[in-house]
Amino acid sequence: MTDFAATRRLFDLPEGIAYLDGNSLGPLPKAVPARLEQTLRAEWGRLAIGGWNRAGWMEAPARIGDRIARLIGAPPGSVTMGDTLSVKVYQALAAALDLNPDRRVILSDTGNFPTDLYMAEGLIRSLGRGHELRLVAPEAVAEAIDETTAVLMLTEVDYRTGRRHDMAALTARAHEAGALAIWDLAHSAGALAVDVAAAGADFAVGCTYKFLNGGPGAPAFIHVAPAHADTVRPALSGWLGHEAPFAFDLDYRPAAGVDRMRVGTPPVLALTALDAALDVFDGIDMAELEARSRTLSERFRKGVEARGLPLVLASPADPAARGSQISFRFPEGYAAMQALIARGVVGDFRAPDIMRFGITPLYVGEAEIDAAVETLDAVLTDRLWDDPAFRTRAAVT
Ligand SMILES: *Cc1c(COP(=O)(O)O)cnc(C)c1O
Repeated sequence: MTDFAATRRLFDLPEGIAYLDGNSLGPLPKAVPARLEQTLRAEWGRLAIGGWNRAGWMEAPARIGDRIARLIGAPPGSVTMGDTLSVKVYQALAAALDLNPDRRVILSDTGNFPTDLYMAEGLIRSLGRGHELRLVAPEAVAEAIDETTAVLMLTEVDYRTGRRHDMAALTARAHEAGALAIWDLAHSAGALAVDVAAAGADFAVGCTYKFLNGGPGAPAFIHVAPAHADTVRPALSGWLGHEAPFAFDLDYRPAAGVDRMRVGTPPVLALTALDAALDVFDGIDMAELEARSRTLSERFRKGVEARGLPLVLASPADPAARGSQISFRFPEGYAAMQALIARGVVGDFRAPDIMRFGITPLYVGEAEIDAAVETLDAVLTDRLWDDPAFRTRAAVT
């Protein structure tokens, strides 16, 4: 059994704060600054250019990719790191469409995160081959998969409501219909017991600054199923995805395996921070973490219900049907969230009216959940949100 009081001590959390926003930006693991300092001074500072060979910088995307692979149920050697998630979505989609050249429909849902849809739109325009992005309600995805579907592109956990798709069932349905499946694990990796291999996902992508605590702007990951990894065509054919980057050939030849999904120079400092942050997950059983998250989010839901707060649950009531967050609708959600944050309960707001709370058992326990419910009660009952200071929207909500 994981000692969650011990994992909490691995984080540098501000005093007196209930941090329920780890689904947006994970907090700082205490091991990160020293590791970064070491890379800066002993590697960059002493080795300079020698760091690429002598400090293993060039292999970092594969090495750290293997650490992510364990957390998402992917086999070793099937994950690489780099760029941002938007870029990795583009790469996965381009590669998947190439594997299914006679079909034109990219199927996704209206709960998907906008950048995934924007990247699809941009790719469709660049390809100019008449592809179509078809969006249906999340509940209607299964029945919308048909013989025109080239690729099913979904995010497992809805960033606003926390509703969780059945990855295995939808992937099986896509395969039956002759489509490929791309899963975005932005709100799953590091939070849930994901098993991309068991689900048969063709591609999986995700970011590492949310539940994986890699820090602002931490690099994204991409997994390609081994069955496709040696045949997919990387649309972004950068030199570090080349079979022999340092041969400096004038022609592109993709590297073997998932390495072909690398593009350019790896972000070594950001990878170093992520690498240190991932130490927190050593020995963590993801199924146990997920179970603990359900216990905590149920405590939150029942607390709100017991106090009769004027909030509408936006997440599925069944904890098994949601990811590691709980969301409520409230018409003055933005101002209410600002009032909560001013009182030390940090969640966030997603337009138009969603108050969102990330449940991260590695550093959130019963005390934080209870503080959140109690503070919500005060904010709503005494209308503490009804203050002009709380209505001014910042650039990042
Ligand atoms: C957070 C998130 C992103 C962010 O993409 P970046 O390129 O890292 O900014 C993309 N997709 C989903 C589903 C997300 O939740």
